[in-house]
Amino acid sequence: MTPVELAGRQVAAAIRSKVAEAVAERAEAGAGTRLAVVTATRDEALAWYVRSIEAAATRVGIECRVCALDELSSPQSIGAALDRLTRDPTVDGLMLQTPLPGGARLADLAAAIGVGKDIDGANPLSLGRIACGLPAFAPATAAAVIAILDHHGIRLAGAGVVVVGRSTVVGKPLAHLLLGRDATVTVCHSRTPDLAVVTRRADIVVAAAGRAGLITGEHLRAGAIVVDVGTNPTADGGLVGDVDAGSVAEVAGALTPVPGGVGPVTTALLLRNTVLAARGGYPGADQGRHGWE
Ligand code: NAP
Repeated sequence: MTPVELAGRQVAAAIRSKVAEAVAERAEAGAGTRLAVVTATRDEALAWYVRSIEAAATRVGIECRVCALDELSSPQSIGAALDRLTRDPTVDGLMLQTPLPGGARLADLAAAIGVGKDIDGANPLSLGRIACGLPAFAPATAAAVIAILDHHGIRLAGAGVVVVGRSTVVGKPLAHLLLGRDATVTVCHSRTPDLAVVTRRADIVVAAAGRAGLITGEHLRAGAIVVDVGTNPTADGGLVGDVDAGSVAEVAGALTPVPGGVGPVTTALLLRNTVLAARGGYPGADQGRHGWE
């Protein structure tokens, strides 16, 4: 059985086209749509990611400003920069990129990002609002998982979903978004004793552990839907997910590719969130939808 490919590129293209329309409408009315991205480390992978966000923003008409802080910046000075940008009326959406210097934690520093501009849901208040079922920006990767499943018509209400990974940027917010969509959610992590026993019960498995080949065919029941969030660099400069594509292909009913799955949708949702922030709004509890319809 060849699983259905849950491609992310077409989902991302649909979102970007809506974003471009909305940005053009704002421009006609004389309003800009502006994103600021803050970095505080010189990291090759980060530099590549930031350039890709900049290029994607520019293509849909969003002005993107990269604020590269010194690597020796203290947590206080990073917080102060975020505070300044939050107060800056020429900034609509604001994100702080990891890795951060000196072991500083994203959730601590991102508390300085105003929730109305927090387009990647990094401020702990955003996660709190999501947990309470209130409108807020969720981390874009978590929202991207929902957007892909929605786009491909996969029903979440009543589905048994196992999320592998409990990070603040992916696993935890995703669990709350899924609960908000009436899924029955189980979250696993590195101390889960027998992962396969848990994942084999799931209708949908979301792999977000950052471990290449962690999820194999043995971890799935026949026909399970698999979303692979993992992005693990390979020795030859490529990228693989957390799923062992070969063995999973023999069992799964549907699978997101890596690359070309969750990644492009994540970037598109950052752009969508920038427009929503510029309009002074949040996505509703249903994070997969465009949010302005
Ligand atoms: P993270 O902060 O390192 O968290 C990984 C989570 O996976 C932790 O909760 C960890 O458990 C769990 N885990 C690790 N090994 C495990 C195992 N053997 N069995 C079960 N659980 C295990 O990573 P993250 O930031 O959430 O990112 C996860 C993956 O998604 C990475 O590959 C990352 O590159 C990728 N990602 C992709 C996008 C995208 O746009 N496509 C965006 C963000 C992240 P403990 O909590 O017990 O340590």
